[in-house]
Amino acid sequence: MADPTAASAPAAHTASGPSPAVMATYARQNIVFERGAGCWLTATTGEQFLDFGSGVAVNALGHAHPHLVSALTEQAGKLWHTSNLYRVAGQERLAERLCQKTFADKVFFCNSGAEACEGAIKAARRYHYAKGNPERWRIITFQGAFHGRTLTALSAAGNPAYLEGFGEPAAGFDHVAFADLDAARDAITEETAAIMVEPVQGEGGVRILPAEFLAGLRELCDKHGLLLVLDEVQTGVGRTGTFFAYEQAGIVPDLMAIAKGIGGGFPLGAILATNDAASGMVPGTHGSTFGGNPLAMAVANAVLDVVLEDGFLEDVARKSARLRQGLAEIEDEYSDLVAEIRIAGLLTGLKLRDAVKPAQVVAASLAEKLLLVGASDNVVRLLPPLVVSEEEIADGLARLKRALSALRRTST
Ligand SMILES: *Cc1c(COP(=O)(O)O)cnc(C)c1O
Repeated sequence: MADPTAASAPAAHTASGPSPAVMATYARQNIVFERGAGCWLTATTGEQFLDFGSGVAVNALGHAHPHLVSALTEQAGKLWHTSNLYRVAGQERLAERLCQKTFADKVFFCNSGAEACEGAIKAARRYHYAKGNPERWRIITFQGAFHGRTLTALSAAGNPAYLEGFGEPAAGFDHVAFADLDAARDAITEETAAIMVEPVQGEGGVRILPAEFLAGLRELCDKHGLLLVLDEVQTGVGRTGTFFAYEQAGIVPDLMAIAKGIGGGFPLGAILATNDAASGMVPGTHGSTFGGNPLAMAVANAVLDVVLEDGFLEDVARKSARLRQGLAEIEDEYSDLVAEIRIAGLLTGLKLRDAVKPAQVVAASLAEKLLLVGASDNVVRLLPPLVVSEEEIADGLARLKRALSALRRTST
């Protein structure tokens, strides 16, 4: 037992490294942030960092956005939690706004991306069950996918490294090659319920699916009576330059999992569905104690106030073009380190040459006080808050160049 009188004493480990009391599931940088404003974070040492990670595509409006802070603090003085045994005004408002701006007719609120993906999987299976086809429960997914860390979400993605040591993966998923329409078609059987896909694989390394491919999946689903389930946990809420990424492919899904940006840093996920796709989800089929609680709803409604303002998403697209231009220069100038640039709005990545690892670029950037995030496929991601300014983009690119120059000096 820890000595309770020691609770207010400063932690002895802050200077030396992370506390062993926190389970070591993450390889953390030895930095503690104390406050943030916009795209900037201040560490306990007083150092300032330019945040091009956004808490892994979460802080869509940066840190301490005044409209979000006031929405949260105002709600905090009124009501935190009532459970879903009662109506929640903020849920009804947020659900109606999401339905108005997307393909959806219905929304279920939860707390994370994994939970949203699991819920979408349940809804897809239950849809066929309710239609009298309980044998249709298998779901086609794609290699390189990431749907979260719960056992079913891991089984859906099928990444062996993440499943190792956790027993038999959950059954009912058929994994096919990335962006391979023929493989998806060939995997369809009498037991298939749905196809589940990220329009852009984020954790997978900013791997962008062509619009024709997504249209092809939509066609397959229509032809075979399958549901198209999109995982827009990372691509949603403006990250790729439109409210949701599917808009750019000219298709609509039947079900969609969202999280990350919708809460602007407050934990929130949701399942969006058409009336038909939601038809199996009757009372008692699903639930979440915290899902859609008044605090999360106040923040998410405030996020939508900003993101859906006239011109906001056009601005994101313009900033994306500026970032693309800068990254193209970097691709030229540092072609010994950078193999390719990948850009979907402000979800951007540098695919590195085999000799360079994302962790090296993250570390070199950290030395320049620039925060980046690694990904699979030897990619390092730049995910600035959507409110990033043109000056901050230029600043970030300059820091990245200095980091790559330093890396080049040490590796040659
Ligand atoms: C982050 C992510 C998830 C998991 O979200 P959590 O909130 O960590 O559970 C699922 N799908 C995609 C595409 C993601 O990027």
